[in-house]
Amino acid sequence: MRFDAAFFDRDGTLVRDVPYNAAPAAVEPMPGARAALDRLRAAGLRLGVVTNQSGIGAGLLTYAQVAAVNERVEALLGPFDTWQVCPHDDSAGCACRKPRPGLVLAAAAAVAAPPSRCVVVGDIGRDVAAGLAAGAAAVLVPTPVTLPKEVRAAPVVAADLAGAVDWILDGPAVPAR
Ligand SMILES: [Zn+2]
Repeated sequence: MRFDAAFFDRDGTLVRDVPYNAAPAAVEPMPGARAALDRLRAAGLRLGVVTNQSGIGAGLLTYAQVAAVNERVEALLGPFDTWQVCPHDDSAGCACRKPRPGLVLAAAAAVAAPPSRCVVVGDIGRDVAAGLAAGAAAVLVPTPVTLPKEVRAAPVVAADLAGAVDWILDGPAVPAR
């Protein structure tokens, strides 16, 4: 096994993107998400979520609301070993907001895995960039909002979460770029 852990973006990757969602009832998994995650759990990988939630810093969301939504995500998709949330927006200059590597590094530390044995899965370039900046691998699962240039720049692109898990479990190695 090449990887000890897989870390997922939340909005647009694990669940449909509802901007600044404060409503657990609005959580809707992306197609195949539960089955894809369960395959990784069965293979013994540790799982995490790495999510930008700038609505907290902007005063549009509270930590409690984000936590309630995250609980609903776990109820639908199963347990995660670590949750890493950045509450800042770009103007804060923090170390955690993707594309910076802070969330990925924190998730790796939380599950005691070296970043080189971790993979990040997300739907936009920020997710891929954060993973690579942390020294992890990265898989892009595009949605209609993903930019063509983000697809071209990604080291690995999968059509859906099942395809991402196929690559994580036994896909060919990708040269660093
Ligand atoms: Zn941050």
